[in-house]
Amino acid sequence: MASVLVVEDDPVIRAALIEVLTGHGHAVRTAHQGFEGLREMTRNPPDVVVLDLGLPDVDGLDVLRMIRGISRVPVLVATARDDETEIIRLLNAGADDYLVKPFSGGQLAARLGAVLRRSAPPDVRAAQERTLQVADLRVDRTARTAHLAGRELPLTRREFDLLAYLAAHADQVISRQRILTEVWRQPYLEDQTVDVHLSALRRKMGEKAREPRLLHTVRGIGIKLVSAP
Ligand code: CA
Repeated sequence: MASVLVVEDDPVIRAALIEVLTGHGHAVRTAHQGFEGLREMTRNPPDVVVLDLGLPDVDGLDVLRMIRGISRVPVLVATARDDETEIIRLLNAGADDYLVKPFSGGQLAARLGAVLRRSAPPDVRAAQERTLQVADLRVDRTARTAHLAGRELPLTRREFDLLAYLAAHADQVISRQRILTEVWRQPYLEDQTVDVHLSALRRKMGEKAREPRLLHTVRGIGIKLVSAP
């Protein structure tokens, strides 16, 4: 028995999925929309997700990417489009398998079983470098300290996580959405959440948004920590 999260907006299909899955002994929870599904996933992680691609609030492919930003949970995607480009996009975005609508209950149960058998135990993330040096900023991820020009920055937990993430991706523009997904692990929060922490971080680093040194905002795109100010 597995705990299955079904993200599907169509009530008829949803009811059919529940019937098939519970009939195969699985515990089923449902979400009707994409963000609701993500919230449900973070609140109570399932063993496997059955994700409909055509959702009313956010594209299923984006939901899939957001899931992949926070989890390696197996995802089985249900798509109405049976073309190769679409399938390749799904697999590249991190789907473990897919079903083309309309599909039978037997096919769903079989694919779900196969995905569950293949799913690896929780991965141990590759050992990360303990210390990151970006210009005169030094971030120690084990001690959870950050020094700028030798002076320790008094950071909150979240500010530290944000700075460490930017340091690990120095010279790349990182979107607020990606930060919410990968640092906050709550992709449905508002972008302003990042901005509040960003301005606190900027203040503690002695920078101004208008005259950035290390911490740059790229208008309309995201944030970048630069290694050569
Ligand atoms: Ca749909």
